[in-house]
Amino acid sequence: MADSKVKEIEDLIKIVSKLPGLGPKSAQRIVLKLINNREELIKPLTNTLAQVYRNVVRCNICGNLKSSNSSCVCSNKKYDQICVVENLADMFAVQSTGIFKGSYHILGGTLPSFEGQKSGNGLLVESLINRVKKNSVKEVILATSASIEGETTAHYISDSLKDTKAKITRLAKGVPVGGSIEHLDDGTLFSAFKNRGPIVSD
Ligand SMILES: [Zn+2]
Repeated sequence: MADSKVKEIEDLIKIVSKLPGLGPKSAQRIVLKLINNREELIKPLTNTLAQVYRNVVRCNICGNLKSSNSSCVCSNKKYDQICVVENLADMFAVQSTGIFKGSYHILGGTLPSFEGQKSGNGLLVESLINRVKKNSVKEVILATSASIEGETTAHYISDSLKDTKAKITRLAKGVPVGGSIEHLDDGTLFSAFKNRGPIVSD
């Protein structure tokens, strides 16, 4: 396998080894498994990947992924709490703690700290304000990371939501400074979520 000079195989190994947690060795093993199971694995994988490529898009209201063939969870679920996260990995982290049952809002990043609180350029902030107003949301939980960018973003959003009736809370300081939500263990995240409080300016 390692000496294989078949271009198609080499190309596939290169792509697979770019996936998280996989090096060239494990990529080779995966590709070998695929090739030995053409009908059971390669065929359905090819079709599924093509469908994901064609149909899965980012919702421009909540930032979650959705199928272009159906409406997003944000439009067909009742909620009075919104948890704001930076990215999908952070949402999955909060989901895995099981503590939050409301709706998520995926910003798509943070404000660069040097840009201060000038504008939420590129982040889904406007649509968050609209969601909060439209659904008379009671609480917005800011679960951005404990980095300078995460704090700047939290304050910016908190300011943006001033005119709404929603209570704005921030995860407790159990989150290590600089820590991203995605890399917290379930226990730490659970308690930071549970002990959330009003956002404070320092
Ligand atoms: Zn949505």
